[in-house]
Amino acid sequence: MKFSGKLLLWTTIIIALTLGLSGYYFVNYVFRTSLQREIGQALDENSILRFAFETAALNVPVKYNLLQDSSVEQIASNLETGGQGTGRLLRISDEEKLVLYASDGFETDGALLDTVQENQYSYRVIRLGDRYYIQTGSSVNALGRVLHLETLRDVSQVFAERDMGFTVFRRLTALMLLLDIGIMYFIASKLTQPIRLLMQATKEMAAGDYSYRARKVSNDELGQLTQDFNHMSEALEQTIGQLEGEVQAREDFVGAFAHELKTPLTSIIGYADMLRSRKLDEEKSLLSANYIYTEGKRLETMSLRLLDIIVTKKEGIRAQKVQAEVFFEYLRSMFLPNGDMEFVFSYDEGVMWADVSLIQTVLVNLIDNACKASETGGRIEVKGYAGQAGYRFTVRDFGIGIPGEELSKITQAFYMVDKSRSRSRNGAGLGLALCTEILALHGSQLEIESMPGEGTTAGFILQEGEDGREHG
Ligand code: ATP
Ligand code: MG
Repeated sequence: MKFSGKLLLWTTIIIALTLGLSGYYFVNYVFRTSLQREIGQALDENSILRFAFETAALNVPVKYNLLQDSSVEQIASNLETGGQGTGRLLRISDEEKLVLYASDGFETDGALLDTVQENQYSYRVIRLGDRYYIQTGSSVNALGRVLHLETLRDVSQVFAERDMGFTVFRRLTALMLLLDIGIMYFIASKLTQPIRLLMQATKEMAAGDYSYRARKVSNDELGQLTQDFNHMSEALEQTIGQLEGEVQAREDFVGAFAHELKTPLTSIIGYADMLRSRKLDEEKSLLSANYIYTEGKRLETMSLRLLDIIVTKKEGIRAQKVQAEVFFEYLRSMFLPNGDMEFVFSYDEGVMWADVSLIQTVLVNLIDNACKASETGGRIEVKGYAGQAGYRFTVRDFGIGIPGEELSKITQAFYMVDKSRSRSRNGAGLGLALCTEILALHGSQLEIESMPGEGTTAGFILQEGEDGREHG
């Protein structure tokens, strides 16, 4: 059953019970009060009749010492009409409780008389046919006789009023319940609206629409729940977006990797097949072996680079405070002046948190890219600046440059702007991917500015503080 249905059912049950019980109590209370009043009046009437009887008995001629049964009948008959025109119901019995006089319709038994004590009254409520009466009884002392006087007072009206009261209350309860169902249906559906909206949102999200948000329609706890749910959805959407991005990146990586493997492998297999199937002259054999060697070397470089990326990701960094000088001395020793390239190194004194060998790898990769992009004899400037934001390294070349639309892609694994050019220079398209990983572990990132035909500047900033240690 729906929550709103339960709410409706329970309020209906509670209202039915409360109205029913209070109605029953109220009608019964009114009934008891009325009955008590009638009983009082019936007893009063009995008392008056008793007194009247005794007085009338005194007026009977004194020639008899004992009140005769005929006189009793006479007095009783007079009392029955009582000069009021309305017939009273009374009954007179003698000492043995034998009826001496009874009004028409006084047809009940004399059991009440057993409870009558001298000078006291008794009563009981009885039903004769479909009518209700209060039967009263008392003893009468008249002319040496102890007689019994009983009266009947019709109280059917009081019972009829009680039945009427119950009927009215039943109808009122039914009407109230109908009204309650109408009102509660409205209230319940209003109260449960946030729950329905939340359910809708969960369904939409389960069906894959993570951008769906539940509408907030109240400011109570349910409104708060809706707000919290929406915050959770936002977090979920972001996480799922990230995961999807990662899955996509992984798929792209695997696709690119397979493709990058295929090219050198095809060459290796082709040349190897040629070598084993035909007898080639020495020059051609040497050429084939050379192809196999260079392609094999490329595969080796690629696998080493990949391994570097995986190991870096897994092991994190071992950062320490390093002087800028350490890096520049290393680079000077690596890139000795030769006829091929013109290297210019200049730097400010400075200290930074860094994993020395990893940052050396980044710098070597950037210089390697700069060399590959430049013509023989090209100038490559490697500089270090100590600034407010941290220590900044830049590697600048005046080579072919990178088109603007490619800038965002070149850090992806295996991405090369000009594949044949990069391959001819032993590029695997992994250098910048590795640099990005390493810099991310240092809390930094690669910034590349380039102008096609004019050259490229690649740079990054390392912090002097101890933040670097946290990126491990
Ligand atoms: P690897 O570094 O794995 O030997 P790679 O140099 O081709 O191979 P990345 O260093 O990742 O790979 O560079 C990706 C691509 O970005 C290069 O293939 C090249 O097309 C472009 N690129 C990178 N640096 C420069 C640069 N300084 N000038 C022009 N193009 C560049
Ligand atoms: Mg490179």
